[in-house]
Amino acid sequence: MIPFNKPYIVGTEMLNIKKVINSHKLAGDYTYTKYCHKWLENYTGCCKVLLTHSCTAALEMAAILADINPGDEVIMPSYTFVSTANAFVLRGGVPVFVDIREDTLNINEQLIEAAITSHTKAIVPVHYAGVACEMDTILEIARRHKLLVIEDAAQGVGASYKGRALGSMGDLGTLSFHETKNISSGEGGALLVNNPSLVKRAEIIREKGTNRSQFVKGQVDKYTWVDIGSSYLPGEIVSAFLWAQLQEVQNITKKRIEIWNKYHNAFHKLAQDKKIERPFIPNSCSHNAHMYYLLFKNIKQRMYFIESMKLKGVDCYFHYIPLHSSPGGWEYGRIHGGISNTNDLSDRLVRLPLWVGLDVDYVINQVLDVISTFKEDNF
Ligand SMILES: *Cc1c(COP(=O)(O)O)cnc(C)c1O
Repeated sequence: MIPFNKPYIVGTEMLNIKKVINSHKLAGDYTYTKYCHKWLENYTGCCKVLLTHSCTAALEMAAILADINPGDEVIMPSYTFVSTANAFVLRGGVPVFVDIREDTLNINEQLIEAAITSHTKAIVPVHYAGVACEMDTILEIARRHKLLVIEDAAQGVGASYKGRALGSMGDLGTLSFHETKNISSGEGGALLVNNPSLVKRAEIIREKGTNRSQFVKGQVDKYTWVDIGSSYLPGEIVSAFLWAQLQEVQNITKKRIEIWNKYHNAFHKLAQDKKIERPFIPNSCSHNAHMYYLLFKNIKQRMYFIESMKLKGVDCYFHYIPLHSSPGGWEYGRIHGGISNTNDLSDRLVRLPLWVGLDVDYVINQVLDVISTFKEDNF
């Protein structure tokens, strides 16, 4: 069976982990965590980057920093991972779902302004598949309405928009280092702080609501409880693993792009013949090949494809059940406007395996084989 995902191992992870074990410094924010912070600050250009134990944790920190209170609204796509919404719901916030663009499957920036009310606090663009949302428009809307922008860049390490790293354009951004992402530490994430006025509080929230980080820097002579917060920092073993991976971002992205391009070229004719649709990358975006997907005609054809690929030994998956059509979405969120692209595209999408070392030619042949069995009036 060809798995859908296989985490890339650089090879130096264990060496770093051994150093941590021998140092007897196992908690958070020691040497490797600091290396990762510096590296990510340099890479994103953000004034502060803080590792967390997941992107979910970074989103939760962002919701606290955005001062979300019960009834505050947060505009986001419905076509996203549950944590994008849950982080705000935990603070009593209300996710307001707007439709996505049919070309990138990202939030439709043209629909955001009409969803703004007197309760709106923030806009949360999600960069699907490492392809950026139309950030210039979103940032301009946010500026005019004095809203915070929190980028869910979970899938975005190694990708950029007009030369700017994903997650570094809003007030706050979040990255994921989950094993399914391009760069991983098993579980892991980071909060990118781009708005200098939020740095101090971000450090406090991450350190259980204490001013411990000021104490460590010698800015106060004892540390104490000053705000709400929790424990959001990873231990050094996780950071040591991540440090090995960060060294290889360019290399991993390059290898993934090669696979992505092979898929894209191989399916050119099928797209021309309107048998399937392929991903679209706007000129403003440099993507990171986080994902390769195909869009079929309808859900029946999609499920037939997934089943047929499984019989051929290749694991393919559909993606999000839109949040507005899940029990949690009914209870905690609401829709603004029509949501037909979200419903339609989520039904028709299939993700193909994409990992460094994948026998992509084999997968391509199986895909072409299965699609050749589609009949005009089959579905
Ligand atoms: C993976 C993912 C998350 C969650 O990341 P974790 O690190 O697993 O918490 C959130 N949002 C999006 C869009 C994701 O793809």
